[in-house]
Amino acid sequence: IPGLPSRAADAARLTVLSGPSGVGKGSVVAEIRRHHPSVWLSVSVTTRPPRPGEEHGKQYYFVSRDEYDQMVAAGDLLEHAEFAGNGYGTPRRAVEERLASGRPALLEIELQGARQVREAMPTAQFVFLAPPSWDELVRRLVGRGTEDEVTIRRRLEAAVVELAAEKEFDVTIVNDNVSQAATELVELLTVPVR
Ligand code: 5GP
Repeated sequence: IPGLPSRAADAARLTVLSGPSGVGKGSVVAEIRRHHPSVWLSVSVTTRPPRPGEEHGKQYYFVSRDEYDQMVAAGDLLEHAEFAGNGYGTPRRAVEERLASGRPALLEIELQGARQVREAMPTAQFVFLAPPSWDELVRRLVGRGTEDEVTIRRRLEAAVVELAAEKEFDVTIVNDNVSQAATELVELLTVPVR
């Protein structure tokens, strides 16, 4: 039927950006918020405390562990994962409503969550954000200066595992320049690779 989108085309409107911690997913997403305001980004819930400058409802919904556990139990999260001692999850309803309106949605999540989304929505588009090099990744993880040593060590260990996941993804964007990576991602939202 002409003009009637297929189910696959509908699902492809969901794009999932993932990759190792410290690769700059947050910076790419911040760039998109600033320079590509028409892009719809899911706002996750997290149990971690806000960093300086972060606002409730903007970068995250900052929730207590009890609130988080309740959302998990109620099935309110499309995916959820523990990362470096905190819970993170994607509120299901906002994403479903956005996709139901036939418009693209973007999630920025870590790898375990991306795998859950792939189980639930296999025709979504999965984008891996890769660091220019391992040394650069270490520099970024250490250089952010907002985390203690134990947290950085945990994140480096996770990054080793996460780098190997690139092969599970539909497309890779190398983040050597944040604004260029953001532009490439926005292009993928309008012209999906799958
Ligand atoms: P940060 O605490 O540095 O903001 O984020 C830590 C990690 O959690 C990042 O890799 C980020 O992509 C991931 N993350 C943020 N929101 C979500 C979410 O809703 N679900 C999952 N699975 N990971 C998330």
